[in-house]
Amino acid sequence: MTDTIMRTADRVIAATYRRFPIVLERGEGCTVWDTQGRRYTDFVAGIAVCNLGHAHPRIAAALARQARRLVHVSNLYYTIPQTELARMLVEQSFADRVFFGNSGAEANEAAIKLARKHFNDKGMPERFRIVCMEKSFHGRTMATLSATGQDKIKKGFDPVLEGFSFVPFNDIEALNAAIDDHTCAVMLEPIQGEGGVRCPDAGFLQRVRELCDQRGVLMILDEIQTGMGRTGKFFAHEHYGVTPDIMTLAKALANGLPIGAMLATEKVAAAFGVGAHASTFGGTPLVAAAALETLKIMVEEKIVPRALDTGNYFQEALNQLKLRHSCVAEVRGKGLLLGIQLNGPAEALVPVCMEKGFLVNCVQGDTLRFVPPLIIQKSEIEALIQCLDDVLTR
Ligand code: PLP
Repeated sequence: MTDTIMRTADRVIAATYRRFPIVLERGEGCTVWDTQGRRYTDFVAGIAVCNLGHAHPRIAAALARQARRLVHVSNLYYTIPQTELARMLVEQSFADRVFFGNSGAEANEAAIKLARKHFNDKGMPERFRIVCMEKSFHGRTMATLSATGQDKIKKGFDPVLEGFSFVPFNDIEALNAAIDDHTCAVMLEPIQGEGGVRCPDAGFLQRVRELCDQRGVLMILDEIQTGMGRTGKFFAHEHYGVTPDIMTLAKALANGLPIGAMLATEKVAAAFGVGAHASTFGGTPLVAAAALETLKIMVEEKIVPRALDTGNYFQEALNQLKLRHSCVAEVRGKGLLLGIQLNGPAEALVPVCMEKGFLVNCVQGDTLRFVPPLIIQKSEIEALIQCLDDVLTR
């Protein structure tokens, strides 16, 4: 059966993904099982998505309840789960208003459109350019790949959208020089996830905020990977004492159901009036109910401080690993968004860890990234460290 599934998938699904040769069919908490009955501790969590683990009983129940009641009606009408979700997000954040879509890319599309529209409405249509960071990742749609600072992702899709320029992450002088009278926004991730788990230098995000204020441009933070407790704060920007004008969320927001959200202050959101933007499935009752239950669990069970504590423990263990293995160049990250950069290629270690019962992932070719569910236990982390110890010794 396993071979048939893999052969069929390789024949009928677009060949855009390189997949590992296992078929996953079931999950519970931080564990997933494949069709051969092998179990894996999941340090990928659907790429920083399933923060509360797999098959969470409360989320499953909320979904079933909502599925029996109302799945979808469009945004021609008010619905209860979407309204409550937006209210909770506003209460948890700097923002006054939320626009819902279905993915990270769609949330970033909304952010890019809003930044342009904001200045257009102020009679400054020439302010449409956005300064982004090298090694950033914002998505795969035409606008979001145009905003992404990685050539390999853009290859073959020229011409990309006009109006995006790039400066090195952490280079405030370059950013200052790149902002001009045509700039509407600076767009960045607080910690670059796909770029190799790269943290901002001390003071960088504060300087970005100051620069945006001085030069009258908007600050857009892409918290699609870093948000929802991943780094040990509800939103990563809380570590750095700044608030953006626009923030995007997706990934973990509904613990695995597809959702994206663009949050903004009232002043900026005002540019999104009736008809300015839309999405058929945006904030549909079913997905909103899952997100709402996810948020309630996170608050009630104090998941975010727990992620900080577990993340600190994990990072310390990785630092110890670095002391024992000279092939580990650097340990990076915050909370449960962690990475170890090796002094050489790291890709080959992923199937070796899988063989030993651990799902981990590799970014930028040389960095192993760990983004487990936020409910991961210290004992599960210890087991992974033991595995890495063996693998790196070899
Ligand atoms: N922005 C960041 C920071 C991401 O990490 C990702 C996905 O990895 C995206 C945007 C794109 O999200 P999606 O794949 O849901 O479109």
